[in-house]
Amino acid sequence: MISDKKCQWCGKQASSYNSIFIPAEDKNLCVCLHCYNQEISKAAGIDFDQVQLHPVVLTDKDGKDHEFHFSLRLMGDKQVLSAFEVAGDALSGYEFSCIGNTADGIFSVFSQLYGRMLSALNQKHICKNTETGTWQITREDIVRGRISCDDASGEYPRIPKLLIDGKAVSWDEFGRMLMPYQGFRFILQIADPADDTQG
Ligand SMILES: [Zn+2]
Repeated sequence: MISDKKCQWCGKQASSYNSIFIPAEDKNLCVCLHCYNQEISKAAGIDFDQVQLHPVVLTDKDGKDHEFHFSLRLMGDKQVLSAFEVAGDALSGYEFSCIGNTADGIFSVFSQLYGRMLSALNQKHICKNTETGTWQITREDIVRGRISCDDASGEYPRIPKLLIDGKAVSWDEFGRMLMPYQGFRFILQIADPADDTQG
């Protein structure tokens, strides 16, 4: 569930991607980003316009629709704009974020983020082998994705879950995708979520 939180400052319902926990005297307070940004702008003396970006639906290379919701977090002279894929009342596979200068306004960081979303949805790194029904790495031999945690596995130490092309891929499943490459070398490069790694 993404909308089960309540902002402890304004009392409004807040989704998980649009709220933040801030430390208070004896516990953490759940605060919506609207209230949070307002406080930060007051404290930093910034004239900040809260722009509400409406959800958008983008179609990927296979013709599948993906609905994205946005959240904006003010960090003084920088702002972070994020897009989260939402399916029903749950977060789904894709997630993007970009950092921009607050002084440049929201549309500069939005166009950067939007370009990255379009570019990611236009790429496919894994595909299903129609004969075996298993997933495999496409011919380009490059995989881009996001590292998440496989909470459902119940394993400790925890193991990763990968989000590739907006699809959740278990660590084992990814391992099997590498087997056709036995004997090959590989490069694993980790990148900050706000860095443009689509190139
Ligand atoms: Zn609030």
